[in-house]
Amino acid sequence: MFSAFPQLPLELREEIWRYCLPYRVRELDRSEYDLYEVEGESEIPCWLHHITSMNTRPPAIWSVCHEARRVAQETGRVSDPFSLRPADSKWYSYLQIHDRWEDSQRDSVHMNWPAMTTYDDDGYGMPLRALSFDALRLSGKASIMFTFLHSCLKPDPGEKVAIFAHPPSPGGCYPHEDGMAHLRVYRRAMLSDTRALRHLDNWSVVMKTVVIHQDIRIAAMTGLFGLLGDALVQIVDVDEVERMADLLRLARNCEQGFNVTARQDFEPLNLQEVNEAVKQTLIERGYGDMVPKVRPAVLFRLCPRMCNRLGRAVTPPPRPIGMGRGFVSFWLDNPKARR
Ligand SMILES: [Zn+2]
Ligand SMILES: [Zn+2]
Repeated sequence: MFSAFPQLPLELREEIWRYCLPYRVRELDRSEYDLYEVEGESEIPCWLHHITSMNTRPPAIWSVCHEARRVAQETGRVSDPFSLRPADSKWYSYLQIHDRWEDSQRDSVHMNWPAMTTYDDDGYGMPLRALSFDALRLSGKASIMFTFLHSCLKPDPGEKVAIFAHPPSPGGCYPHEDGMAHLRVYRRAMLSDTRALRHLDNWSVVMKTVVIHQDIRIAAMTGLFGLLGDALVQIVDVDEVERMADLLRLARNCEQGFNVTARQDFEPLNLQEVNEAVKQTLIERGYGDMVPKVRPAVLFRLCPRMCNRLGRAVTPPPRPIGMGRGFVSFWLDNPKARR
């Protein structure tokens, strides 16, 4: 900040702080695919749950001074979305996130859960209702994985999709039903849950995930992760051509010159192919009317931990404050780490 900042009128200072607030993607749950891998031994590009837990923190300006914190708290707070949802929109998953920061004006919500039915012992309830309920409390925008959309049940010809259904309880089961009755009630609930697609006018469907391994301060300078680099997760729709190209280029540059455990695919999505896939999936489930409101997207995650570098033995210790401000500085510059 420049030195005249404190002399600006309060209203102007607050306006500047507001301008620094990030537009973030609030995650309902952690990604599951990396949980069973042993860090340092397996060939996956990133341990995504590190990013997800960093992504629950308050925005950067919250830690600057009391004035900035007050501005962040005008629209932001820590909340547990699980406890705020009404009974007909409950969803439980063993990967769900409880306390997290959220901004009621700026943030969208995202569910990493990969399929509607596969994990019935680890997740139960009404996932889409939960997601859309959360979205409506915030900016009204939500995103899901394509695998999830594709796993939503299709109604048989003539089958009614109930407006209301009791959410399934643990294990996807209804304790008082058995055999075929149990399956019927479960199917009724899961079909009914798909109706929540109509609760929002703005959906993104994640066709692929790309991880960018980079120092947060360097990434912040690109402006692609919020003004201060505190929006670590970005969901970019296929029609945001420029931002998509910038992020893919950054991702490629951050991986190309290094020996990594797993190479990622940085090719842009085939527009026609993904549009068609999303459209078909919606039509087959009776949501042809939603086609213009649902867009294919890519999920970008900024990870400062360099999970994918071969030979990375330890997590680098934090740099002393004031060193390498915004520029490359090797962690060996930390005098404590030198020996
Ligand atoms: Zn990583
Ligand atoms: Zn069951």
